[in-house]
Amino acid sequence: MKRFKYVLMLAVLMLSLLLSGCGGQEAQKDKGGDFVIVTSFYPIYVDVLNITNGVEGVKVVNMTKPQTGCLHDYQLTTEDLKTLESADAFVVNGAGMESFLDKVTSQQKNLKIIDASKSDKINLLKDGEEANPHVWLSVTYAIEQVKAITSQLCEADPKHDKQYKDNAMAYVEKLIDLREEMHGELDNLPHKEIVTFHEAFPYLAKEFKLKIVSVVEREPGTEPAPKELEELIGQVKGMPVKVLFTEPQYSPTAAETIARETGARLYKLDPVVTGEATPEAKDAYLNAMRENMKVLKEALQ
Ligand SMILES: [Zn+2]
Repeated sequence: MKRFKYVLMLAVLMLSLLLSGCGGQEAQKDKGGDFVIVTSFYPIYVDVLNITNGVEGVKVVNMTKPQTGCLHDYQLTTEDLKTLESADAFVVNGAGMESFLDKVTSQQKNLKIIDASKSDKINLLKDGEEANPHVWLSVTYAIEQVKAITSQLCEADPKHDKQYKDNAMAYVEKLIDLREEMHGELDNLPHKEIVTFHEAFPYLAKEFKLKIVSVVEREPGTEPAPKELEELIGQVKGMPVKVLFTEPQYSPTAAETIARETGARLYKLDPVVTGEATPEAKDAYLNAMRENMKVLKEALQ
């Protein structure tokens, strides 16, 4: 009798395994069995490349072209919606960067959204009423974003749980080293005042105690009005060390005008929102932030 019960239990177990196996295959048939992770834009893509490094059966697709830059006022394309249809999870920066998110969730109610800024360790800075979304430019917050993505990704794809966590830990260690190096180079600079190009750097400034005196283009892509330009020139003239930081993603015309009028030196700070979509992009954040560190050091000596 005991033996019969045992056999019966075994049969039930095998049957349930078989059924769940079939269900899984059915759902993923048209994707070649891969777990497809779509990222909204470049810095999130870089995070996810690190978290999924070497994990088989996982595909990472960046929804926007890698040269898109920040997603302020970005309009979803038909191609984007198609990309999202194949997604098992959509990883976003959050904090208002993806203003199109409501449209996505209303069209694809079952899509798992992973929000990188969903962490009680991330305190969003405000730009007037709205949150400033450039969270990743604080290295500390970049670490919290990696952790937030990883825990939500493990829930969405528990099969690769351990690999994701191991990868995330290795990447976080690199980010901790970067942060230490940056503090070492930037904490004792004699000057701390900077003028930046768009509202991307308050998190970086807060972390390394820099002071953003002014921002050239509050709305990226719109040149400052003559009155604003005049005001900016006045502010730059008042700086002990006149330095302006343009960004590789935007035209430096306005900054060049200010530099001409004030004798300020121009440098480039990279908000790490563009780059190559290749496996080497894994190190794009680390490399760009080290470059930013060198530029700040040179400018503020
Ligand atoms: Zn931006």
